Amino acid sequence: MHDERDTGSFPICPSPATRHRLGELSHEGNGLVRTCDVRGVLHCHTAYCGGAHRLRDMVETARQIGLEYLGISDHARCESAPDGLDAFALARQREEIEALRELYDDFDILQGVEVYMAVDGSMPLADEVLAEMDYVIVSLREERDESPARRTAHAIRAIMNPCTTILSRPITGYMLARPPAPLDLDAVLAAAAETRTALEVAALPEDVDADWVHCRRAQQLGVLISINPNAHRAARLVDYRHGVELTRKAGLCCRQILNTLTAPELRAFLRRDL
Ligand SMILES: [Zn+2]
Repeated sequence: MHDERDTGSFPICPSPATRHRLGELSHEGNGLVRTCDVRGVLHCHTAYCGGAHRLRDMVETARQIGLEYLGISDHARCESAPDGLDAFALARQREEIEALRELYDDFDILQGVEVYMAVDGSMPLADEVLAEMDYVIVSLREERDESPARRTAHAIRAIMNPCTTILSRPITGYMLARPPAPLDLDAVLAAAAETRTALEVAALPEDVDADWVHCRRAQQLGVLISINPNAHRAARLVDYRHGVELTRKAGLCCRQILNTLTAPELRAFLRRDL
């Protein structure tokens, strides 16, 4: 179904003619990602850890805006996130998520966690705790005056960790920044493509005019992208639309975007069955 209603700056489903103008047909049927192709988002925070709203309210908002799943990714406790969750708190949160899942047959809730990986590769949670999560977002805490070589090695170490599903900051920022990146981004992209680790494109309204050159390069190298709002309150969940707008400029297709997968497909991907 094609729909060109006036939706502000967000074209939902352009007509075939419009898609042709945008170059979609050159992608062999794998069209440019559209807002309606995004099935869920995987980076948000709740009142468990610094978020403004309860987990249940985040889920309700995600359902109301038409998403099919929501990944909860509160911080793991560490020096950079002292109010983050430890293994016990994550287990308590999982009980709430499992109870909520029972309420909906049309909506899936995943339990992720956002962890800061130290420069030496250590994680704030034990491997067996990370393995219990549906997915893991890794953020890197940069050292002062870190060299490009060390920054590259740090990012690749995070990508190579089998627990890592999505690599977030500071790559998130580099992906939207004008070249040159302050690290060997091609090496990072190649490692991400090889391991099928998704790189996050943050979707903030203020980033609408960000540079998309690195996103296009990521697609050329076959890297999966996860478009996420990093929402700390329910109303910011819709921010993923800004990420769609940006990645369309880069020519990204659905097959490159992790969260265009349906909930069962995503579950299969996370089990490494897809
Ligand atoms: Zn976050």
